[in-house]
Amino acid sequence: MREIEPQRWGAVQLLCCDVDGVLTDGSLAFDENGSLIQTFYVRDGFGLVAARRAGIKIAWISGRPSKVAQKRFEELGLDHCLLACDDKAAAILDLQSQYGLSPDQCCFIGDDIPDLAAFTVCGLRVAVADAEPVLISRADYITRARGGRGAVREIIDLMLSARGYWDLMLDMFENSDQSAPDNLQK
Ligand SMILES: [Mg+2]
Repeated sequence: MREIEPQRWGAVQLLCCDVDGVLTDGSLAFDENGSLIQTFYVRDGFGLVAARRAGIKIAWISGRPSKVAQKRFEELGLDHCLLACDDKAAAILDLQSQYGLSPDQCCFIGDDIPDLAAFTVCGLRVAVADAEPVLISRADYITRARGGRGAVREIIDLMLSARGYWDLMLDMFENSDQSAPDNLQK
């Protein structure tokens, strides 16, 4: 297992996540009407909202369109939902420019070959546990959790722990003072 120094996690200001196979387990199910069914992991959602509260910008970047992903994104109230994106690297470079960030302040979580270009413009490259071997071979960190089963939450825990924000949030929950993270329960 490759480990990353806490200060590198703490430096991340922009977290970019692929959707299929990272925020979901990669399954594409359809009901009898042909409507897409995708499953998102609620603990990833909690982490994403917490990360945003800590000041980290969150972007979902997918090559495929998905009304389901768009709906989940809007429910969580995150920053950038870039679906049907045919150039993930260009999209990330745009976000870096918009926020004045260096590659070392950007983390990308991916699972498959279409994510390789995004890896080239991010300083922290993460592959989920069940990612394709080629992505794992190029990653700085491989999650213990599988895509759609807590991989994103695992990375957010590392980023927020490095900032000391996780302890702050645990204190708020233990003391029933949830006023600050008021939308964390999605
Ligand atoms: Mg994927």
